[in-house]
Parts: sequence; C-alpha cells; structure tokens
Amino acid sequence: MLLFLNCFIIFCMFVIGSLFGSFFSLATYRLPRHQDIVATRSYCPKCKHRLEFLDLIPVISYIIRGGKCHYCGDKISLRYFLLESLNGLVFVIFYLVFGYTINCLIISLIYAILFVIVGSIIMSKKMTPDEKKEIKSLKEELKLNKKSGVFVSEIIVAMIMFTILMVSSVTISKNFSNTAVKNRLDSQAYTVLLKNVETCLATSYENLASYISQDLVEGTTFNVSVKVSRLSDQDFSKDDIVKIIDVKVSYLYNQNVIEKNMKTVKGKVL
Ligand SMILES: [Zn+2]
Repeated sequence: MLLFLNCFIIFCMFVIGSLFGSFFSLATYRLPRHQDIVATRSYCPKCKHRLEFLDLIPVISYIIRGGKCHYCGDKISLRYFLLESLNGLVFVIFYLVFGYTINCLIISLIYAILFVIVGSIIMSKKMTPDEKKEIKSLKEELKLNKKSGVFVSEIIVAMIMFTILMVSSVTISKNFSNTAVKNRLDSQAYTVLLKNVETCLATSYENLASYISQDLVEGTTFNVSVKVSRLSDQDFSKDDIVKIIDVKVSYLYNQNVIEKNMKTVKGKVL
C-alpha cells in the first residue's frame, strides 16, 4: 500500500513537473517577446494555429504527434519534449530528496523562478533581428503610455498559483505528518505496554500488585495502569498459579485520550 502510494506520488510529481516544464518553456519563449503568458492559448510558432487539448499534454503530445505540428506538419523542436521530461524528472528528484514537505515546494519554486529567468535570457539572445525591432517599438509604446508594469498580470497569476499550491501542499503534508506522529506514538504506547507486561511476567507473584505509573517517552506522557490478579483462588500452590495481567496504556493526542489495552495475558509464576 505504501509502495503504491509512493509510486502514485512519484507519478504525480512527474506530471506536475512536466506541466510546469511546458509552462516554463512557454514563459521563456513569450516573456522576452513581451507576450501574454496566461490568457493567450498556445499556438504553433510556424502556422500560428491554436493548439487543441491533444497538442497540449506534456511529453505525451510530442510522442503521439510524432514530433510534428498536427496542422502544418512543421517539425516541433525536440527542446520542448526534453524540457518537459527533464522537469518531470527534476520534480521527482526533489520529491525523493526532500519528501512530501514544504522544503520540496520551496526548492521547486526557486528552481522554477531560476529556470524562467535563465531560460528567458537564453531565448532573448536567440531572437531574430525582426523580433528585436518589434519589441523595441513595443517598449517605446509602453513608455509613452507610462505603463511600466508589463508583467503585473503574470506576477499576480503566479502568486495566486503559488498560494493555492502552498495551502494545498501544507494541508496535505500536515495530514501526512499527523499520521506519522500518530503511528509513532502508537508504537511507543505498544512498547510501554509490552515492557509492563514483561515486568509482570518476570516478577514473582508475592511482589506483584496492581499499580499506576507514568512513562515519559520523547516528551509524551504515557499513563500506565496495571492490574494483576490470580486465575484461580482454589489453587494455592505457588508453582501452579497463573496470573492475569491487565495492562492499559493511554496518552493524549490532539486533546483525545488514546488507549491501548492488553487484557488477560497469562503467565506461570516463576
Ligand atoms: Zn503548425
């Protein structure tokens, strides 16, 4: 089950990574050209045909379309396929290294920002002189209109996306770590339980009495309640006396008392 869950998360991380990769390569292409990265649907750079759903699936689209534009047959740069798969892999590596934690998200975000910055610089160096001229006139136009915040809409959308990702991932990781904490406390309670049972088994009958005690393990208090009784009152031969050991261990978790019980453990008196 755990293996299945892990494989599922790894698969999801690859999909998320490749989706981001697809978005990053779009951003690195469009940002130096001062084009909108959010509202405008993806299009073929050659024939300008709007891309449909089947053309937009990262990694898969490239394979099913045979690396060609579905509309004009123009070859699609292998760069897109490589960037998408590579980003998928990078996200999987982040998950494997950092686990399902907030650190994983922060590292992914830093990586994404660096990727877009570096990618944009590289892509802007690759622009044709015509494109550069076009952008220069666009910049002048923007200056005249006193619109300095070209990327404001992009930044707002990115921030909203980041917030959603952050909140959902914190919630999920909290649930994950809560389960982990609960499992750890449960196993510690079980250890305390066994320890007390063993003590009762190893002690001779005369020295046994019901007792209440506390055990502090890693900052959590485990309340122990032990009741030892004889199985048979008719049999007074010490060698044959069988005792009933009833151990209860409880601890506080999220303001709830969690109780572990090991009833009627029988053992011969030593
Ligand atoms: Zn095309």
